Amino acid sequence: ATIRCDVLVIGAGAAGLMCALTAGQRGRVVQVIDHANKVGKKILMSGGGRCNFTNTGTTPANFLSANPHFCKSALARYSPADFIEMVERHRIAYHEKELGQLFCDVSSKQIVKMLVDECQAAGAQIRTDCAVQRIERGSDGFHVDTAQGAFFAASLVVATGGLSIPSLGASGFGHDIARQFGHDLLPTRAGLVPLTLSGTHQQRLADLSGVALPVEARSNGMAFRNSMLLTHRGVSGPAILQVSSFWQPGDALELDLLPGQDAGDWLRRMKRDRPSAELRTVLAEVLPKRLAQRLCEHWLPDRPVKQIDEPQLRQAAQLLGAFPLVVSGTEGYRTAEVTLGGVDTAQVSSSTFESRRVPGLHFIGEVLDVSGWLGGYNFQWAWASGHAAGSAV
Ligand code: FAD
Repeated sequence: ATIRCDVLVIGAGAAGLMCALTAGQRGRVVQVIDHANKVGKKILMSGGGRCNFTNTGTTPANFLSANPHFCKSALARYSPADFIEMVERHRIAYHEKELGQLFCDVSSKQIVKMLVDECQAAGAQIRTDCAVQRIERGSDGFHVDTAQGAFFAASLVVATGGLSIPSLGASGFGHDIARQFGHDLLPTRAGLVPLTLSGTHQQRLADLSGVALPVEARSNGMAFRNSMLLTHRGVSGPAILQVSSFWQPGDALELDLLPGQDAGDWLRRMKRDRPSAELRTVLAEVLPKRLAQRLCEHWLPDRPVKQIDEPQLRQAAQLLGAFPLVVSGTEGYRTAEVTLGGVDTAQVSSSTFESRRVPGLHFIGEVLDVSGWLGGYNFQWAWASGHAAGSAV
């Protein structure tokens, strides 16, 4: 027999569970289905197992989308404080790490349990191992065939997330549904992702894998000051992940290796105060030693600072302040935290997340062309868009 409900949510991730509990609290009969064997796998993996569940400084400026205005309404109506209220109500201990990023003290499992408990209290039913085979729209709702039988719902909410980390259940299924119902898709690419180097940069830096340092990473007019990590294949760490969402093949990427300092002023000061010291020695006091050495072997004058004349000094300062990194690509969806692009927001209501083409069809979370910066913004988007749709269905 067909299972009838008011709202069928496809995807028991961050956005889907938030939508389900919100709609359930309004008295809607809600079913949530997921093809994975457990709910919220990305939440469980997130923040190194402690889930960076929001950012207290969330603003629309922390999101990338072809339409930067689209995210405003939902973010304004469901704020980080609203989510924190639920976290506190469930007595989940948390702390701020840096820059407004809130993490669980103990485990991201607590966030999943909280969402599942809220769904249960609101009467929303969740089914895992439930792959969708077919979706058809009738005059008064959606017929959905699944591995666990047929469903009929007046409203269908697509909350299947992005393409990142297929091993966690990510799929392009939401994009397929969008296409089926005549929605446009914006090109997708990996975001918040380690970058790879090639050529001499890869050869000269590969064996420094594991070295970390604070930098300011710049590309396409965006600058992020945070730590960077050298890897076997290239670069990673928060500053790089942030800037990766703005970098595209062929774009320049610069690193300020002495963020917050003027490299020229610093070099002149060294020349005055420590004239006989080798550049690699004084550089090793402000940079990791192995990196300082490597820079002096290949890019900077390897001699006492007093022997560096003004034109050479200016060149060295330019390199330290804006090191041009030759990036060959990204590590791709295998390690990316988010997917940029997706369902075009032009055909979706920013207040109800309902399709402008197909009444009753909704898209929420990462499946949409809205992606946040690193730092809890992506979950805040999932909560806010899930809450908005859950309040409307
Ligand atoms: P998801 O949470 O991915 O949920 C989608 C659900 O849909 C999944 O349960 C999936 O199994 C299901 N699904 C997919 N295809 C189908 C299908 N065909 N049929 C049925 N079900 C399907 N963001 C932060 O803000 N803070 C962090 O600390 C953070 N850490 C992260 C760490 C990692 C390793 C990764 C990969 C991402 C991280 N993110 C973080 C990003 C964040 O996890 C996502 O942006 C967020 O989960 C998106 O929510 P969503 O509900 O749209 O999608």
